[in-house]
Amino acid sequence: MQKKFATFAIAVLAILLILFAHIGARLTATVPAFTFAEEARELYLTFDDGPSTVVTNRILDTLREEAVKATFFIVGERVHGREETLQRIAQEGHTIGVHSNTHRYDTIYASEQAFLEDVSACAKIIEETAKIKPHVYRFPGGGTHKRKAKLLEDLGYEIVPWNAVCGDEEIPNAAKETLVNTALKTAAGKRKVVLLCHDSATHAPTAAALPEIIRRFRAEGYAFKAF
Ligand SMILES: [Zn+2]
Repeated sequence: MQKKFATFAIAVLAILLILFAHIGARLTATVPAFTFAEEARELYLTFDDGPSTVVTNRILDTLREEAVKATFFIVGERVHGREETLQRIAQEGHTIGVHSNTHRYDTIYASEQAFLEDVSACAKIIEETAKIKPHVYRFPGGGTHKRKAKLLEDLGYEIVPWNAVCGDEEIPNAAKETLVNTALKTAAGKRKVVLLCHDSATHAPTAAALPEIIRRFRAEGYAFKAF
């Protein structure tokens, strides 16, 4: 009798174990392990056409206050006289990318050779001034430029397009609120946002709008990243 009971008890235990294992498996299956990654929102702030003395430094002040890292696609010949600003970008942990040496489309895109010379002239200034080797590139004027992109990828560059804008180029003399709203509107529904902004001398409104841009995207659950 006792032996029968023991067998029965073992059988019940086994059934219970199997049941729990199933429930456990179902629980882990329903725990959305991937949801966080799927819902994680990332914002890459990118600033083109700098460095400039006032605007770039104001932007750097805000980024430091907000503990946010960003990416600066610089114009090589604008570094002259602003070496400290470029060094500050690197020292404060931001990424410096190549945008162009001259930003003059007619010469940059005149030939493949001219294009590569422009890239390497800008990269050289970054390396000599900020002591870092750039690994990201943004085409002046945007676009895909397939053949040139391939040449750059062979050199180890990642090409960085954008998928949202704050409107500081598109809307002349835009008010701060317009820039904030344009950024939010063009980024709407995107999990990974690469936001195009500018930090050349004429873009004081961008520097003024940046704290609010950061605050609003943070409230939307975005984490800030640099390339
Ligand atoms: Zn540009």
